[in-house]
Amino acid sequence: MNRDFLNIVAELNKAKKILVVGHIMPDGDDVSSVLSATLGLRKIGKEVLAGIDWRIPWYFQEFEEVNEILSYEKIMEANFNPDIVLILDASSPDRVGRFQEFFDNRTVLVVDHHGTNTLFGTYNWVDTKYGSTAQMVLRINTELGVEYDERLATLNLMGIATDTGFFRYSNADEIVFSDATKLVSLGGKMYLVSRLFENKRVEQFKLLSTMIENMKMELDGQIVYSYLSKEDYEKNNCSEDDSGGFVGELRSIRGIELAIFLSEYEKGEVHVSFRSRDWFDCSRLAVFLGGGGHPRAAGCTLKGNLNVIVEEVIREAKNMFVSQRESRLLIK
Ligand code: AMP
Ligand code: MN
Ligand code: MN
Repeated sequence: MNRDFLNIVAELNKAKKILVVGHIMPDGDDVSSVLSATLGLRKIGKEVLAGIDWRIPWYFQEFEEVNEILSYEKIMEANFNPDIVLILDASSPDRVGRFQEFFDNRTVLVVDHHGTNTLFGTYNWVDTKYGSTAQMVLRINTELGVEYDERLATLNLMGIATDTGFFRYSNADEIVFSDATKLVSLGGKMYLVSRLFENKRVEQFKLLSTMIENMKMELDGQIVYSYLSKEDYEKNNCSEDDSGGFVGELRSIRGIELAIFLSEYEKGEVHVSFRSRDWFDCSRLAVFLGGGGHPRAAGCTLKGNLNVIVEEVIREAKNMFVSQRESRLLIK
């Protein structure tokens, strides 16, 4: 058994009060991991609060348990004084936002599957072998003797499904399928997970059309990129939550190796998503730009004028694309 895993389980067993924290701009894996750990730890009698320092996208309301995840302000109001902090799916301290303030003099447990993790905890169980952090939470809960019911199984399944693109991406390996099978046998319902995304607002289709209007190709159609400005969102009566799957749509275009989507979620603040098909290492590009992620899916956040950021990001992407392509050809 992995030593970090055992240390983390031992710390969780010992603690009475636990703060479970996810990352800013939460995705399905993060929400799933935070809820699965929180509900699991409560089942074995721990006093647990869950926090994410970001607005939770509206579609997660499909699961009413999501209201258990509190804002930073709410956690402060509760005057919660946890023994330990469990951080899930976050690769660096900035990814937890203001919850970093809870790190002082406390044991910090980091559980994550990003190769770009900076190992900022007291104990770090970081393993890129897992397609999702939700699978790591499943192992922690199992080791702690948590009994799964249908709801917990469904919530836990949600993270595995979303981080693997509903079992379509290259990270959908044997461990992913066997963990999903285990959760389905414990009562997890895939159709409830699918409802997260088969629940679109008409405005999202209009937003998609704006995104397609802004789309451009580079390097003979090997790179595609697009963006949405704050005005584009407002004009379509949308927020950044509504463009969740857009970068995946871009990557699905025939012949594309690298897809880039830039989202101006606040005026002057841009989140950049990178997705690749076969070989381009997105995480290297994202780390270079101050972010992180996985080889096939990574991101970063930049501040400044959208047009300038688009230009800079595309320039760096093209440079790195050409150099990665060349070194790949040399190795071959
Ligand atoms: P996204 O494009 O936001 O869906 O993110 C793709 C992957 O990159 C996810 O695994 C994220 O956790 C990671 N990621 C996105 N943005 C950042 C960032 N600013 N810093 C570190 N990792 C990030
Ligand atoms: Mn995540
Ligand atoms: Mn993840």
